Amino acid sequence: MKRILIALGLLILTIGLTACILFLVYVNPFMQKMKIVTTIKYDPQLTLVLGGGGNTGILVSDSAVLVIDTKMNEAADSLSKTVHALAGTKPIIVVNTHIHTDHTGGNKFYEGQTIIAGGNYDRDFWVKECGDKGVPTVWVKDSLILKIGDETVTILNLPWSAHTQSDVFVYLQNRKMLFGGDVILNRQSPAIFDRYKGNGYGYLKAFDYVEQRFDINKVVPGHGDVGGIEVINNFKDFFIDMKVAALDPAKKKELLDKYKDWNQVPFLMSPAAAEGYFEKHPQP
Ligand SMILES: [Zn+2]
Repeated sequence: MKRILIALGLLILTIGLTACILFLVYVNPFMQKMKIVTTIKYDPQLTLVLGGGGNTGILVSDSAVLVIDTKMNEAADSLSKTVHALAGTKPIIVVNTHIHTDHTGGNKFYEGQTIIAGGNYDRDFWVKECGDKGVPTVWVKDSLILKIGDETVTILNLPWSAHTQSDVFVYLQNRKMLFGGDVILNRQSPAIFDRYKGNGYGYLKAFDYVEQRFDINKVVPGHGDVGGIEVINNFKDFFIDMKVAALDPAKKKELLDKYKDWNQVPFLMSPAAAEGYFEKHPQP
């Protein structure tokens, strides 16, 4: 009995230590990196605020201010101050690309304003995940077109699951700019979680869908730097490679290694986790 208890104690200690090391080596630097905020004055009307959670766009016109994603923690607070200062008495329209709290954490600062999100979420699920402050007021099932100044903004709800069950893209027609939410990341491994009906095949379909639907020149990913159409194509290549790696053990190591420099959290958001998804789901 004593020996069993000692063995059990050692096992718990080993697991605890491993978890601590993984946290310090991988999760903590990932979280620290996520806190860095970079502001880009893209043009007189459009400001991009990268990091501090998901990337954000602020589009200002004479009649309203559009905010794409509201960030998390202190970055959400400081973003909302910037937005409210820019808006003055003008209405604010918030769009959430998806439910995750690194993109919706600041919604509570926009109570009483219009908040738009994808229509495949259940309201109760949203409240459970994000709390009851700043719950979306408009749920887009298909698409919605807004005129913000001279810009035409398309808010498109992806009809199938990819990163979550209701991913929203925002396209600025004059600027040929696409906000991809977490369906499109730049040099970061994706999160494909059952809880949000994450679907690797859904991602792959989504890349072709947006490229066919929109004339895209600039891509603002959910996380990572702004770039051109290559941001989508690189992420598409990642998914194709992980699918191939799942089918062909001989190629697995080489394909996983190709993405070892990407921002990642082991077991959760990593090339191996994405490859594991396709191993577990050999069919769409
Ligand atoms: Zn996300």
